[in-house]
Amino acid sequence: MTDNGKLIIFSAPSGSGKTTIVRYLLEQLPQLAFSISATSREPRPNEKHGRDYYFLSDYEFKLRAENGEFLEWEEVYNGTKYGTLKREVDRIWVAGKHVIFDIDVVGGLNLKKQFPKRALAVYVQVPHIADLERRLRNRGTDSDEKIEMRLRKAQEEAKRAPEFDVVIVNDDLERAKQEALKIVSEFINERISE
Ligand code: ADP
Ligand code: 5GP
Repeated sequence: MTDNGKLIIFSAPSGSGKTTIVRYLLEQLPQLAFSISATSREPRPNEKHGRDYYFLSDYEFKLRAENGEFLEWEEVYNGTKYGTLKREVDRIWVAGKHVIFDIDVVGGLNLKKQFPKRALAVYVQVPHIADLERRLRNRGTDSDEKIEMRLRKAQEEAKRAPEFDVVIVNDDLERAKQEALKIVSEFINERISE
């Protein structure tokens, strides 16, 4: 599959619902496998190394970046790095699956640029910034300070939505899931013309 493996990229400001939608697609489409990113942040109580992220020390992250082991990486929030390891994508393609990503807007567009035909870049949009704040507060995983930071970043990220292949508005979650399923199913069945 290394020659015809595809990339399905879901990007959006934090709290938009991309993780929820990506999990649903993984349940529905056995041809997909999740790209586990590396991060230098601490795991949340329910997160596991090698399932949610590869949790690396800041030092190890830097070493791997210097060794050219990432397809893309970024300091998404002050002092916290996130990145996609080349080895992770290869692992999934070799297993005969397409890779699905839950990454931030800059990282998503960066990957799309590297794989223009093989990648489908999807932007998940919330109807209004107030919905984002409500969802982040209800999710209960971030401090007030972190929520403020995420909301500031969200306003910048929203400006780049037009650069994506598709925008899905996540107002009604059930409808957004069905729309995502249709778009992704069609894309993985298309032939790549390269
Ligand atoms: P992201 O991965 O973009 O940060 P999540 O998938 O974690 O977002 O969703 C953030 C929170 O919003 C979660 O608690 C999720 O259950 C909730 N959520 C997702 N979609 C909707 C929706 N359409 N309406 C209300 N709440 C939603
Ligand atoms: P969280 O800390 O909530 O898990 O994720 C914070 C942000 O980092 C989210 O917007 C998430 O999509 C993004 N992110 C996760 N993995 C990667 C990655 O590999 N690369 C980039 N650029 N962003 C990532």
